[in-house]
Amino acid sequence: MSFSDIPVDVGPVYEGERIRAKQMYVELGGPKIEKHFELVRVKQPKEIKDGQVTIYGPDLKDMKEGERYPIGILVEVAGEELEEDLEAVFERRVHEFCNFVNGIMHLNQRYTNWIRLSKAAYEKGFNTLDLLGKVLIRLYKAELPIIKQAQVTFYTDPKDIEKPYDMAMEIYNKRDERARTIHDEDVDMFYGCVLCQSFAPTHACCITPDRTSLCGSINWFDARAAAKVDPKGPIYEVPPKECLDELAGEYTGVNEMIKKRSLGEIDRIFLYSGMEFPHTSCGCFEAIDFYIPEVNGHGIVDRNYGSVAINGLPFSAMANQTGGGKQMPGFNGVSIQYIVSPKYQQYDGGIETIVWMPKAVKDRVGDFLPQDLVGKIATEEEVQDLAQLKEYLQEVNHPIVETWAEMLEEEEEEEEYEAEGAMVPMGTVGMTIPGAGGVGGFKIILKNCKVHAEAIIIKKIDSKGKRKK
Ligand code: SF4
Repeated sequence: MSFSDIPVDVGPVYEGERIRAKQMYVELGGPKIEKHFELVRVKQPKEIKDGQVTIYGPDLKDMKEGERYPIGILVEVAGEELEEDLEAVFERRVHEFCNFVNGIMHLNQRYTNWIRLSKAAYEKGFNTLDLLGKVLIRLYKAELPIIKQAQVTFYTDPKDIEKPYDMAMEIYNKRDERARTIHDEDVDMFYGCVLCQSFAPTHACCITPDRTSLCGSINWFDARAAAKVDPKGPIYEVPPKECLDELAGEYTGVNEMIKKRSLGEIDRIFLYSGMEFPHTSCGCFEAIDFYIPEVNGHGIVDRNYGSVAINGLPFSAMANQTGGGKQMPGFNGVSIQYIVSPKYQQYDGGIETIVWMPKAVKDRVGDFLPQDLVGKIATEEEVQDLAQLKEYLQEVNHPIVETWAEMLEEEEEEEEYEAEGAMVPMGTVGMTIPGAGGVGGFKIILKNCKVHAEAIIIKKIDSKGKRKK
C-alpha cells in the first residue's frame, strides 16, 4: 500500500497527535456543531463504486481558516464474508485510520466525532477531503482484507447532512435496542478491546452484554462478530471463568485479561462499580459517572454537555481525572447504553444513586429507567447548584435521601472523636476526592483512610475549565 500521492505522511506513528486550537486550520464536527456523524454500512458489491470519494458541501479548500463545519463520514463496504454485525466495529476504525494522517486529529465516535486539520498539513497540500477518503479506502482494504470494495461520502453542509444524520441516528438506535435484549448471565463469553491503547496504554475495555464499551460504539454483538472474523485482532474473546462476586461483577477471566493487557498495571476490575476497582477509562467515554459526596449520590455528565456539571466542574476537567487508563474511584467513563442496564454500577447502589444528569441525557435514557425514579433525577432545568440539588432531592423524596441519616451519624461520630482528641483507628479503604466546586466552597471528607502526603494542593477551576492563577 502506498501513500506517495498523499502530501503528508500516513502511519500508526501519528496516532495520538494533538492539534491545539492555535495549530488548527479547520475543525469538523465536535461539541460546537449540532449535527455530525460517522457511519459504516455493509453493501452489495454492485452498490459500491470501489475507490469513489464524494463530497457534499464545501471541501477543505473552500472552508475559512479557523472556522468549524459539520462533518458526516459515510463509509460503504462490500465483501463476501461481510455481515451487518461488523458495521460498528469497522466504524470504530474511522478513528484509528483518520489519526494515521499526520496533521489530522480525530476524537470520539458516532455522533460525537470531532476532527481537526492542522495548518501545517493544509499548507503541505492536504486541502481536499478527497485525500482523506483515499486514505480511508486504502487502509480499510489493507488492514481488513475481508473488505474487497469501499467508497466514502463526506457531508459538510448543514442542509445536506440532515438526511444522512437522521439515518445514522436510526441505525445507532437499532444497534442499542438490540444490545438491550441480552444480559451478562445469558452468555458464556465476554470480549476485550485494545483499540485505544495508543492513547491510553494501560486501558483495555471489557465488553459484556450489560456493559457496552465506554465509547458507546461497540456492543457485545459487535464485539462477538469482530472476534469471530479476526480472532488475533484488537477485539478478542475474554472467557469470564469464575464469578468471584456477582454484585460487583468480578470475574477471574476479566482480571486475568486486564492484568495481561495493562502490562501488570491493573489486576482487578469490578465491572459494575465506579467506586471500587472500577473499569479503566481511555479518553473516548460517552459520559462520566461521578460521585457527589455532598449528597452521597452520583451524577452523570455526557461530553455534549456544554456547561459545568452540578459539582461545579465541566466535562473536560472531569475527563482529565477519568481518562488515561487509570482506575479512578469516583470518576468512571461509561457509555450511555450502560446507564440503562439493570446492572448499572449495582455494587455502588445502582441507578437509584443517580441524582443528576443533563436534560438531554435524561431524555435519551428516561424511557428505560424505573419510571418512579425518573422524575426524581434532577437536571440543569431544576437545579443549578448543590444546595438546590439537596433541597430538590428532599422535595421529591429521592431514595438517596434515606442514606443521609446514616451519613450524618458517621459525621457526628467523627466530630465527637475529634472533640475528645481520641486516637481513631484507621482502615486502609481507598478514598475518593471527586473535586472541589459547587456552592459554599468545598468539603473534603476522608473516612476510614490512612493518608500520607508531602503536600496537598487544591486549585480552583473556573466554569470554563481554566485554572485560576
Ligand atoms: S473505548 Fe474501548 S471498545 Fe471503544 S474503541 Fe476504545 S478500547 Fe475499543
